[in-house]
Amino acid sequence: MKAEPAVQRRLLDLADADAELARIEHRRRTLPELAEIEAAEKSLQVKRDTVVAANTAHRDLNREVTKQEDEIEAVRSREDRDRKLLDAGNVGARQVADLEHELNTLRRRQTALEDDLLELMERREAVELDIKHAQAELGKAEETLADAQQRRDSALADLETAQARRDADRTRLVVTFPADLLGLYDRVRQQKSIGAALLRARRCGACRIELDRNTIGAIRDSAADEVVRCEECGAILVRTPESGL
Ligand SMILES: [Zn+2]
Repeated sequence: MKAEPAVQRRLLDLADADAELARIEHRRRTLPELAEIEAAEKSLQVKRDTVVAANTAHRDLNREVTKQEDEIEAVRSREDRDRKLLDAGNVGARQVADLEHELNTLRRRQTALEDDLLELMERREAVELDIKHAQAELGKAEETLADAQQRRDSALADLETAQARRDADRTRLVVTFPADLLGLYDRVRQQKSIGAALLRARRCGACRIELDRNTIGAIRDSAADEVVRCEECGAILVRTPESGL
């Protein structure tokens, strides 16, 4: 294949644009914010679970407190009833003894229930503190995630701008190449990621391999408009005074 040396040299600009586009694409896939977001999302889920667990514990305790209060209330009305019977005075001695015995039992029962209720309420207070703490932690985790997402979006927007600029460069460039040369360049680039490179100091700019004496000799002898390629990686080798020929 033949192409004017000036056209061949322009392939280096195209290769620069493509390398930059590949860097942009790589950067897009490996933004540190992506890992940050993944970690922040995991952490957020853990904090959400903690809030849910604390709220569930609170609901359970509320239920227990209500149950305990109902029980205390039941004992209290039983006590009231017994006392009224005693106060009315129209019960026999045997019944008085029974009622007094029951009242004693009820009082003990009430004290025990009230102690339990107190403990339940203390536990509920502790769980309320847990909820506050868990919600604060959840809020922090949400902020961390939002912050990382914002930084990711801004980095992506920058990359988008850089890519648009490079795409425009590329579009302007490609129309200046003959179709066969561009076709070869694109084929090599698709296979090996670098389509064309400078031959500098006898080294292929794409695969970095130093060419042997015979190859260098053959390249030196080939016409300036001959399109030469690296035997190792297939890249189009662009010759300039830096090539060391
Ligand atoms: Zn090479």
